[in-house]
Amino acid sequence: MTGLAPYAFPDEASRGRRHPGPAHSFRTPFQRDRERIVHSSAFRRMTGKTQVLVATVNDHHRTRLTHTLEVTQVARTVARRLRLNEDLTEAIALAHDIGHPPFGHAGEKTLHTCLLDFGGFNHNLYGLRRVDDLEERYPEFPGLNLTFEVRESFVRHANRLDAAEGVEFRNLGAPLLEALVVDVVDSIAYDTHDVDDALGLGFVTLAELEGVECWQRSATVVRGQYPQLPPHAFRTAVVREMLAWQVTDLIEETARRIAEGRIDSIDAVRSAADDLVGPSETGLRLKAGLERFLQERVYRHHQVLRMTASGDRVLKSLFEEYKNRPELLPERHLRRWTGSVAYLGASSDPPLPGRKLVSELPLVIGDYLAGMTDRYALREYRRLFQPSPDL
Ligand code: MG
Repeated sequence: MTGLAPYAFPDEASRGRRHPGPAHSFRTPFQRDRERIVHSSAFRRMTGKTQVLVATVNDHHRTRLTHTLEVTQVARTVARRLRLNEDLTEAIALAHDIGHPPFGHAGEKTLHTCLLDFGGFNHNLYGLRRVDDLEERYPEFPGLNLTFEVRESFVRHANRLDAAEGVEFRNLGAPLLEALVVDVVDSIAYDTHDVDDALGLGFVTLAELEGVECWQRSATVVRGQYPQLPPHAFRTAVVREMLAWQVTDLIEETARRIAEGRIDSIDAVRSAADDLVGPSETGLRLKAGLERFLQERVYRHHQVLRMTASGDRVLKSLFEEYKNRPELLPERHLRRWTGSVAYLGASSDPPLPGRKLVSELPLVIGDYLAGMTDRYALREYRRLFQPSPDL
């Protein structure tokens, strides 16, 4: 790749894959990662997973997948402007939420509680397990066999170098700029779009947002340009302006920090003491105000709380039922458990080569539940607990 900045991560510096294979004749390693992620089943399932609002509420608000595409596109813009490795940034962005369970953060909390005796549940570490082991796409190896750098981003995003999964990523120093960009863009994207979705669903009003500085600044810009916009067009224009402002601020502030710290190599990136990627002080203050508003007015809105309460009930009940009656689990999942022979018999199909067996049944159940879409979990709940002709 040409034109990379000296602080960008070059393709040839990659530490490679767990199962080494020949290089592709014209695709870069990170391009291949990107394509493997897009072709994975976990990626497709994000279409049915909650971002903030349960994925089945309507067809307009963000799902995990549309959020991922928005993050990817903004992260690429930032990477290109800063001359970072765009393919690597894109692969990290596409994968960043691949491990999210159904029902958003409520689902993650529920699984964490169910699995407390077994180390809990973290969506990033599950994401890593998913791409390392659980995806079944290639006869040669389990998982997607991604590069070290994309795999590192899962553990970094979780800030879980202490976890068993983090061992190989310790002692590397600070994260790569490409991974940091995705982290910050993720949070800019969801703050901004949660406001948009909350307005769209009538959880909050335009008048209430006038008290939020981040919104108000962008609203003033839009009113200056288009004084007579009807409410829907106004809302869309302000959301766009808010996003554009935050992204420009992020690019300028990051460029400033890189210049000030004389970051001129990957070694300098790895040994940087402070975060090199982030918004300016003003950007940070506006963002904090916006997040306070979201916390108070959106994430605690009674309709959001009803969705999360119902998601929590569904996952908890499924978890308990599978634990008491492992034979209800689909064979493909039950077979990952070392105790499965008692249920399936020794002669059932063996697990795929290279697939790790798990000695604790709850961990197998947790992985199965985490892979479900909102819709699938709800249907499974109906199948198991309501008189129904569904199989
Ligand atoms: Mg995200």
